[in-house]
Amino acid sequence: MSTATRPRALITGGAGFLGSHLCERFLAEGYEVICMDNLITGDLQNIEHLFADPYFHFEKRDVTEYIHVVGELDAILHFASPASPIDYLEFPIQTLKVGSLGTHKALGLAHAKQARFLLASTSECYGDPLVHPQSEDYWGNVNPVGPRGVYDEAKRFAEAMTMAYHRFHGVATRIVRIFNTYGPRMRLNDGRALPAFMSQAIEGRPMTVFGDGSQTRSFCYVDDLVEGIYRLLHSDEVLPTNIGNPNEMTILDFARKVMELTGSESEITFKELPEDDPKVRRPDIAKARRLLGWEPKVSLDEGLKRTLAFFEGRLAQGESLR
Ligand code: UDP
Repeated sequence: MSTATRPRALITGGAGFLGSHLCERFLAEGYEVICMDNLITGDLQNIEHLFADPYFHFEKRDVTEYIHVVGELDAILHFASPASPIDYLEFPIQTLKVGSLGTHKALGLAHAKQARFLLASTSECYGDPLVHPQSEDYWGNVNPVGPRGVYDEAKRFAEAMTMAYHRFHGVATRIVRIFNTYGPRMRLNDGRALPAFMSQAIEGRPMTVFGDGSQTRSFCYVDDLVEGIYRLLHSDEVLPTNIGNPNEMTILDFARKVMELTGSESEITFKELPEDDPKVRRPDIAKARRLLGWEPKVSLDEGLKRTLAFFEGRLAQGESLR
């Protein structure tokens, strides 16, 4: 890392939910941060408070095109991608492009700048898993031609490309497989379970549980995820590492939990299960515990409270829930 000046990090997708939290964390750690985003799913509102910081720079850019950054770079965190099922259904080609071409461009830049590179990969690499919980050595069960395939396969390709840059060019690469994460700055209307349930609960509308609600997920609070990513970047581990909270629950129980927390009297209504919706998902985090000394700290109750406070704040500013 450069010594004379602050270390510099490029964060692609930096105006998104996870990217904006990473920008904040890297600034707090003394980095100069260059945030790139084409704003198709990212939002300037997520990073507005950072513009006053002289070490924060924003560039509106599509990272699937040539990326140029003036000066040295110590770290590149590639977080650009639509990331909720309704977003990648709306932007299927962009999702494939940012996972493939965008990852290639970001890796090329890492190679040129001799920067460390961290890929935001995903539990979607495991698809509808036949092994439970999912550890990093499981190769997954993905339908390449289903509607979710655009995201899952783009991320699988991105992992392969990242390993190729490591093996062929010697780039210092890291791969984080991110499991379901929630917290402030999720878009209220991004269609994922948590924003959907919270907005429905707040407005007293029926909570839309897909299928019979017996499918499971394991939800991690964003601050825990960011801590795991920060530690992984600074570790020596090249192969993929799961970061997520192993606290698994059914989606029906999750909906009930949100209802309880908000004191809502919404009804639960059952809707059709989306195609290829994984039936179970839970990270095996033994590797992250061993290598990074990391494990999640924020309880679901605490994380949900903080998220609810954020959503209520945005509502008070007049933002629409739908
Ligand atoms: N889900 C639901 N109701 C909603 C939104 C999502 O029951 O309004 C379900 C979805 O079918 C999945 C789980 O909640 O089984 C998590 O969905 P999400 O879109 O948050 O993330 P995924 O893990 O599927 O990428």
